[in-house]
Amino acid sequence: MAVSVKQFKTESDSWWCPGCGDFAVLASMQKALADLGLEPHNVALVAGIGCSGKIGNYVNSYNFHVTHGRALPAAMGVKLANRNLTVLAAGGDGDGYGIGVGHLTHAIRRNINVTYVVMDNQVYGLTKGQNSPTSDLGFQTKVSLKSIEKPARPALSALSLGATFVAQGFSSDVKQLTRLIKEGVQHQGFSLINVFSPCVTYNAINTYDWFREQLANLDDLDEESGRDVTDKGAAMNMLREYDGWVRGLIYRDPDSVPYEERIVGYSDESLSQADLSLSDELWSKIVSEQQ
Ligand code: SF4
Repeated sequence: MAVSVKQFKTESDSWWCPGCGDFAVLASMQKALADLGLEPHNVALVAGIGCSGKIGNYVNSYNFHVTHGRALPAAMGVKLANRNLTVLAAGGDGDGYGIGVGHLTHAIRRNINVTYVVMDNQVYGLTKGQNSPTSDLGFQTKVSLKSIEKPARPALSALSLGATFVAQGFSSDVKQLTRLIKEGVQHQGFSLINVFSPCVTYNAINTYDWFREQLANLDDLDEESGRDVTDKGAAMNMLREYDGWVRGLIYRDPDSVPYEERIVGYSDESLSQADLSLSDELWSKIVSEQQ
């Protein structure tokens, strides 16, 4: 039976400012899940803290709104407990590349089968405009001093750490972003989709037009363009050449094996459906050991 986008919508009023880039990420995610024929009860979305973390309120699926920077370990737990679920994690650049960057490192290293969508607006929007890990050198707002730090380049960092799927999208291109999320979900392993998603309220510098200009050279990378998306060296060179300002599918490892398939003895049956009750014999043994 065909699944409609409407099935992934909720009744929640939106908390986001009109024009926020995160609306397009939400629409792309809902469309991608529906296009893949997934039903809401087969999807879990784990969201971090920040404006972007509100996305969990707007997608009709299992949802888990976790503490700051902790979306990935929670998502990994969900996936391991029920391998039949399609698991996504979502958050912002502050959540994922600041406080959560240690978890990102290990999610990549383990190759957990989770699609991580990061809404990168180069600012902390929820707390009204502080510099974030991806803010440019010299970036300044009413509440932040001029940044004297180099910005993080998440796609290049992820590739260096061994990520098996890396893509970048832009909120003004829902069609491309939908395709990237679909490909990320279908990928067997960890997929990072960094989305340039402007904050129209607290970032007057990195606007839609600003991003468009930055991305003007390479804004439609995909497999059909004839590029070999499995050539990691070429992908890294391209990111270095354009200082990370490209969008589309950057790299995909065709031989990726997800974490759960490498666990010796991991049951085919999801933990959520397994009988975990203690046998009388085992319970008696535990009780006798306590006495
Ligand atoms: Fe979006 Fe910025 Fe408003 Fe947050 S403050 S909802 S990031 S526009």
